[in-house]
Amino acid sequence: MKTNVLIIGGGPGGYVAALRAAQLGAQVTLVEREHVGGVCLNVGCIPTKALLASADAYEMVRRADEFGVRTASPVADWPAMQERKAKAVQRLVSGVEVLLKKAGVTVLRGHGRFLSPRTVSVAGDGVSEQVEADHIIIATGSRSATIPVPGLESPRVLDSTGALSLPELPTSIVIIGAGAIGVEFASLFHTLGVQVTVVEMLPRLLPLMDADLGEGLARAWRRRKLKALTSARLKEVSDKDTYLEVQIETASGTQMIQAERLLLAVGRRPNVENLGLEEAGVQYSRKGIPVDATMRTNVPHIYAIGDVVGGIMLAHWASHMGVAAAENALGGHVTLDERTNPSCVFCQPEVASVGLTEQEAHDKGYDVRVGTFPFLANGKAVAAGETDGFVKVVAEAKYNQLLGLHIIGPHASDLILPGGLALTLEATLDEFKEIIAPHPTLCEAINEAALAALGIPLQIPAQTSVSKR
Ligand code: NAD
Repeated sequence: MKTNVLIIGGGPGGYVAALRAAQLGAQVTLVEREHVGGVCLNVGCIPTKALLASADAYEMVRRADEFGVRTASPVADWPAMQERKAKAVQRLVSGVEVLLKKAGVTVLRGHGRFLSPRTVSVAGDGVSEQVEADHIIIATGSRSATIPVPGLESPRVLDSTGALSLPELPTSIVIIGAGAIGVEFASLFHTLGVQVTVVEMLPRLLPLMDADLGEGLARAWRRRKLKALTSARLKEVSDKDTYLEVQIETASGTQMIQAERLLLAVGRRPNVENLGLEEAGVQYSRKGIPVDATMRTNVPHIYAIGDVVGGIMLAHWASHMGVAAAENALGGHVTLDERTNPSCVFCQPEVASVGLTEQEAHDKGYDVRVGTFPFLANGKAVAAGETDGFVKVVAEAKYNQLLGLHIIGPHASDLILPGGLALTLEATLDEFKEIIAPHPTLCEAINEAALAALGIPLQIPAQTSVSKR
């Protein structure tokens, strides 16, 4: 068959690209070997958020007395939580299927592989097609990475997909890696009463984010008695039948930890194999498929988007790249700006960030102005009993232009949007002073952090805000 735009992979990158291309009037074919929605909807963002919502509900009932509500002790019914999670996933996957159908996108169920630069074979259950396309978008995603440590072949060792569908809650778990996946699962299991130990090779939690966020998370976890070892490496795992013995090397010596399960959360690898990229002439490495700012690969009619590109592996970024690739394939010239791309981590307390970290701002040569505001001094947070964390703004000191917004605390992911907007509009701290934040809301903390950076906070004593290079 022939098609105008062919997309390989139906995750948040691919299915959004398909919808946008169809909106622009193209005849679109989407190839997907498993379920539309990809990792995000099926075994990533959505199922973790559904389980985290169950954990939040459990925590709220556990704390009910604090709010003057008397209840019996809650029970964490893991199978019921799994059932609820499955329903949320099913609902969203069906929603995507309906959207694709209504948009007139042809979905072929099978594995896509290039036979030549313009021809892709699709092979699946009852499907065997050769599709010839004018434009092709590769959106094949990524899979969990592993590391060469002895003992990781044990069935007690999980990746994030395995951890999401455990038949029962373990009593204890060691989590290797304190990136987004590691800290989200740590929060989930700890809240539900599992004994958790997080092991991170670098000196702090969430090492790629602003240093104050990782330190803030470590403080909050110490208060919650969630154990985290930083500057620590996994050396060996021994399966003792009913439990694992996990050997960790730390700065103060070797530690042996016994746990029922181990979750490996040490990053993800782009799915570049078995795609026939050589036949298409597309350059790639195990780190991904390089693209230019318009999402084009080295072959002008072939684009790549989402995790398979390597670099930022976030669902919303993949969708954004998908829209850009579809528009560019059909005659547009859209380029993306990584600077305004937010990153949210759904641990407890939640973390969200957009723009430059304080360190990155220094490294770029700015004189940096910083302001922070603790949720402890925010009326809504106190009323809701969620006072862990703070808002931090990073600005350059000459014009007070905002460079970054970093939040740890209640609903951080829902508070980050104004940061991206301000970066896009090149807003200054003085403009944050002009914006009226409704009261009482958590977003007042953003304005107060901006005021703190200007040296004129109203709800906390003034701080010194300029940190010279
Ligand atoms: P990551 O790269 O974010 O974090 C992996 C962590 O593991 C790093 O901090 C690294 O230093 C550590 N590590 C690596 N080897 C180690 C070892 N031998 N011992 C101890 N620590 C070790 O990867 P991830 O958390 O697995 O997530 C994968 C991708 O998916 C990332 O790109 C992430 O941004 C994305 N993701 C995002 C979200 C979200 O935004 N909420 C959620 C899940 C996944």
